Amino acid sequence: MNNFTPKETYTKISNISIDYLKNDLNIKGLIFDFDGTLRINKEISEETLDFLKKAKELGFKISVLSNNPHVSNTILKSLNITTTQKFACKPLRKPFLSMAKRMKLNPERIAVIGNNRLFDIWGANRAGMHSIYIQNLDNFFFKKKIKNNLKNDGIKPIE
Ligand SMILES: [Mg+2]
Repeated sequence: MNNFTPKETYTKISNISIDYLKNDLNIKGLIFDFDGTLRINKEISEETLDFLKKAKELGFKISVLSNNPHVSNTILKSLNITTTQKFACKPLRKPFLSMAKRMKLNPERIAVIGNNRLFDIWGANRAGMHSIYIQNLDNFFFKKKIKNNLKNDGIKPIE
């Protein structure tokens, strides 16, 4: 197991067992990546919204750590997530550790949820946090669909 290996892998956020995180791992805070994790193909699913709601009800502290400088404040506000950091320079350890400080939690009490093995998983592991990889099949199928469409049109895609 290397530093790029997540502790858990799921195809979507709603498959994560929030009870396992709370009761077995004593996790108290969640740091979410934004693009491709909370928001996939420009939308946030009902299932993801339900997960956030349940996590809040169970008393989890929730934050967003994104390398994207343009994450919409309106969306973050609608999600009721106030602890956020844009343009975060993941996978450096510093943004993860500063976020832990802002959440007033030790790194080992935090799970990082993200769709990028380098930025999210490697960063989380090195910061001593529990790493959860969202293997984004939606994006995968989307790319595959484009590839197939090109093929149907007789265009050979560039690998
Ligand atoms: Mg992402």
